[in-house]
Amino acid sequence: MRKVKPLWRLSEFETANYAFLRGIDYHFAPCPYSKGASFTFHKKIWADLEEAMPGRKLDFYQGFLERGRPAFAQRDDEQGEALRACARCGMPTSQESCGVCRIRAALAESETALHD
Ligand SMILES: [Zn+2]
Repeated sequence: MRKVKPLWRLSEFETANYAFLRGIDYHFAPCPYSKGASFTFHKKIWADLEEAMPGRKLDFYQGFLERGRPAFAQRDDEQGEALRACARCGMPTSQESCGVCRIRAALAESETALHD
């Protein structure tokens, strides 16, 4: 299934402010598995660029989507993205089981490993 990202133009800061002002509870602790992950390094580079040149990050992302559109369309045509029902919960997915069920299975597996 494709992801829907209705807030992709908003920064984390804007999203957090909106949640705060609307009284929406949100999770702000870093992911416990993110230590040593390369995305934290990349995120800092983007943050530094954005601070030096405000708007550059969104410009880059919009340009990437615009220039990549023909390639993305061709890929979708080639793959066909046939959907079927998840073997576990029945929700639409392009794989044997949906992303939620795969995460649940991985968590259950790690829980079992912890208690063994
Ligand atoms: Zn499922």
